[in-house]
Amino acid sequence: MQKDHPKLPAVPSVTGLIHHPYTPPGGFDAPQPGVFKASTVYFPTVADMRQREWKDKSAYTYGLHGTPTTYLLEERLCALEGGLQCMLVPSGLAALALVALAVLKTGDEVLIPDNAYGPNKALADGELRHFGITHRFYDPMDPQDLSRQITDQTRLVWLEAPGSVSMEFPDLPEMVRRCRKRGVLCALDNTWGSGLAFKPFDLLADGADGVGSLAVDISAHALTKYPSGGGDVLMGSVITRDATLHLQIKLCHMRLGLGVAANDAETVLRSLPSIALRYAAHDQTARALAAWWQTQPQCAQLMHPAFEGAPGHAHWQALCDRVPGTGLAAGLFSVMIDARFSQDQVDAFCDGLKLFKIGYSWGGPVSLVVPYNIASMRQAWPGHLKPGTLVRFSTGLESAQDLILDLHQAVQAHLPMA
Ligand SMILES: *Cc1c(COP(=O)(O)O)cnc(C)c1O
Repeated sequence: MQKDHPKLPAVPSVTGLIHHPYTPPGGFDAPQPGVFKASTVYFPTVADMRQREWKDKSAYTYGLHGTPTTYLLEERLCALEGGLQCMLVPSGLAALALVALAVLKTGDEVLIPDNAYGPNKALADGELRHFGITHRFYDPMDPQDLSRQITDQTRLVWLEAPGSVSMEFPDLPEMVRRCRKRGVLCALDNTWGSGLAFKPFDLLADGADGVGSLAVDISAHALTKYPSGGGDVLMGSVITRDATLHLQIKLCHMRLGLGVAANDAETVLRSLPSIALRYAAHDQTARALAAWWQTQPQCAQLMHPAFEGAPGHAHWQALCDRVPGTGLAAGLFSVMIDARFSQDQVDAFCDGLKLFKIGYSWGGPVSLVVPYNIASMRQAWPGHLKPGTLVRFSTGLESAQDLILDLHQAVQAHLPMA
C-alpha cells in the first residue's frame, strides 16, 4: 500500500513571484548610492508615458536614456571637470568617436595633434574618411601651425595635453584662443588631466566658480583610467557647458544606441571619492621614478611634463603649476632609452621587470610598461625627441622604492653601459 506523501507547502505561482506585493520601506541611506539596472522603465499610465521627457533628465523612459545611477555619475563627473552636461559612453575611445560623429558631416575637416592618442587618428583615417570627412595633423607644439591648417572646412580641432606616449605639453590656452578666433569647435582629450591637473573649462583660472573666460567646448575623458582606478572598467564621458552642443551630442548618442552598464557606473561612483588622493599618489611615485631615470646613463631623454627640459615643461608650469611647487601631473612618463641599445635589448629590459606588468592603459593600482615605436606613430621623427627607443611607464600604487629597485635590477641585467 502506498503511503501518503507529506503535504508540501504550496508552490507560489510564478506570477506571484514576479508581481510580488512587497516593497521595502523607503528612506534607505548609505555611503554608496544604489545600483539601478534597467532596459525597461515602467510608466503608471499611457498618458504619463507620452508626457515624459528624458532629454532634460527630468524623468526616466528607457535604460539607454538614463537611470538614477547614470544620472548621478554624470553630475559628479561634471563637478570634477567643471562642466554642465555629461554623456556616458562604453569606453574612452567611444567618447572620442561620439564627439566626431555628433559634430562632423561630409565635407568637414578635423585637425588632430600629431602626438594624439593613436586610435583617434585611426578613427579619422577609417570611418571619418569613409564618410567624406577629411583630417590633417598639426604640430602640437606650434600654435602657428594650427592656425595655418585651419580652413573654411575645419569644423573640429582635437587637443591633448600632454600628447599620448611622447608626453609633449602644448600651449593649451593659446591653442584654444586660436580655435575661438576662427570659430572652430575645440575638443580636449582630458584623460591625462582628469579634471585634477587643470580645469578644462577654466584654462586661465580666472573663474571663481570654476567657469573661466577661456574654456574648451568639449572635454572627452577615458574614465577607464583614473575615475575607475581599478583597471577593471571601460567607460568614457563627453562633457560640455553649452546646452545646444550637448543636445546635438545627446541625440547622436541616442541614435547610436550607446549606453553603459549600471554595475560599471557604480564601480566608477565608488572610486570617484578617492580620485584626488590616488592621482596625487600616482603623481608622486612617477616623479620619484622619473628623477631616478635622470641619473641613469641609459636614459637619453626624460618625457615628463613636470620636469625641467621635458618637451612643453613651461606650458605645464603655466597651466598646472600656477603656485610653483603645487602643480599636479598624472602618473605617466616616457623614457627614451639611448640609441646604442637595440629594440631587442629594450624589450628584454621590459620583460625583465617583475613589478611592472606589460600592458596597455593606465590609472589602476599596478604599474605598467610598454615600449613604443615612435617612428611608426608620427608623420616624421619630431625634432625635440632624441634618437632611441621610447618606453612608457605608468605608475600604480606600489611603493616607489620597490619600483625603483625593480627598474634598477632590470637595467643592470639588460641594458649594460660597458
Ligand atoms: C586610454 C585613452 C583613451 C581611450 O580609452 P579606452 O577606454 O581605453 O577606450 C583615450 N584617450 C587617451 C588619452 C587615453 O589614454
